[in-house]
Amino acid sequence: MTSFFQQDKLAVLFDAAAVAARVSELGRAITAHYASAIARGEELVVVGVLKGSFVFLADLVRAIDAPCHIEFMGVSSYGDATESSGVVQVTQDLTRPIKNKHLLLVEDIVDTGLTMKYLLDNLATRGPRSVKLASLLEKPSKNAAGVEVDFLGFSIPDQFVVGYGLDAAGLYRNLPYVGLVMPPKSEGQG
Ligand code: 5GP
Repeated sequence: MTSFFQQDKLAVLFDAAAVAARVSELGRAITAHYASAIARGEELVVVGVLKGSFVFLADLVRAIDAPCHIEFMGVSSYGDATESSGVVQVTQDLTRPIKNKHLLLVEDIVDTGLTMKYLLDNLATRGPRSVKLASLLEKPSKNAAGVEVDFLGFSIPDQFVVGYGLDAAGLYRNLPYVGLVMPPKSEGQG
């Protein structure tokens, strides 16, 4: 039987080993960035943006060698299935205040940047000591909001990707790699 993970309609963009290697590098960079703040006794809060960031966040926090609190925010964007509208609704908020704390927002992918622009602006009003953004993926050609990703996994072309937390119609989040959903082959073609 063909495995869900081996369907011919999926093409691997970054395999599990490539993702793991990049996440380790990001963890080291993040650890170095916050080392002096942690040494001063300041607090780091890592905030995962649901749902797409949950796999990346789980691996990333284990690659960060520093004490950190972990929180989640849920957002939903009004728009069609594949395009963000920039009108964002917070469906789940932080459980603790972030005043005077260092905030590391963790996202799966920055596409137009509108979702992150909204969240960064929202969180900035709560008085954090600093706010940084880590994203596994970015489509730089489309980031019209000009959101700066401080810790970026990979830049990708403007293609729809799934896996490692990212979904298509709710599925594929549990693929252990980042892949592309290939269009169905039309009849008569190999
Ligand atoms: P933005 O507001 O930056 O346009 O959209 C960000 C959100 O759109 C991501 O958190 C993700 O949910 C969704 N998104 C954007 N591009 C892709 C993609 O290629 N694949 C998947 N699965 N989701 C995407």
